[in-house]
Amino acid sequence: MDYSFIIYIVGAGIVFVWSMIVQTNLKNKMNKGSQMRAGSGKTANEVVEEMLHAHGVTGILIEHKPGNLTDCYSPKEGKIYLSDSTYGRDTVTAIAVAAHEAGHAVQDHENMMLYEFRQLLAPAAGIASRIGPYIVIAGILLSAYAERNSNGGIGYTISTIGIVVYFIAFLFYLVMLPVERNASTRAYKDMKEFHWVSDDQLSFAHKALRAAGDTYAVALASSAITLIRLLALRGGRGRRR
Ligand SMILES: [Zn+2]
Repeated sequence: MDYSFIIYIVGAGIVFVWSMIVQTNLKNKMNKGSQMRAGSGKTANEVVEEMLHAHGVTGILIEHKPGNLTDCYSPKEGKIYLSDSTYGRDTVTAIAVAAHEAGHAVQDHENMMLYEFRQLLAPAAGIASRIGPYIVIAGILLSAYAERNSNGGIGYTISTIGIVVYFIAFLFYLVMLPVERNASTRAYKDMKEFHWVSDDQLSFAHKALRAAGDTYAVALASSAITLIRLLALRGGRGRRR
């Protein structure tokens, strides 16, 4: 009986249900917030400009990126992209999202260590999360083949390489969670200080930002489960030799 497989299935199931709850909660909050016009009457663009100015960040352009959820800060281009529902909008959601992205620009400006580390990992992590598991599986298949040819070591080594590759992806999510939470904390602080939204809208915006942060917690949990599963798969093969 492979208990590690049962634990994996149960763990993956829990994460799946959790991700559904988080996604639904986030969607509800974002929708509700997009119906509320911010108490200050300010637009997302104005908020970004004020926030950058308040933290001494200069030379950042704000651009419209058509589509949904396309909001992002690009340190390479020195641009903050705002999506259809954010760019030029004066809703609570638009302001919270824009302030969050401006928060990333401030992190970058202040050379926040975790932010820089995340940027360093980002390109590798994208590839690693996709190919890591395949390398592990290739290693396991190879060790099954090699066992018959009394040379199981190669497959085990390849599996280990796959795990190390996937670990980069896991590390990325591990770093991403506090970076995202920090950008939201910065957004919330400035929303409060500069009164971009009314007081009752503020507590709502806080919940919406938290809900967005939860999606990164789900991503981290999901990559942790995959990593544990890959370790269990490789470990089993290694011992059988
Ligand atoms: Zn972010």
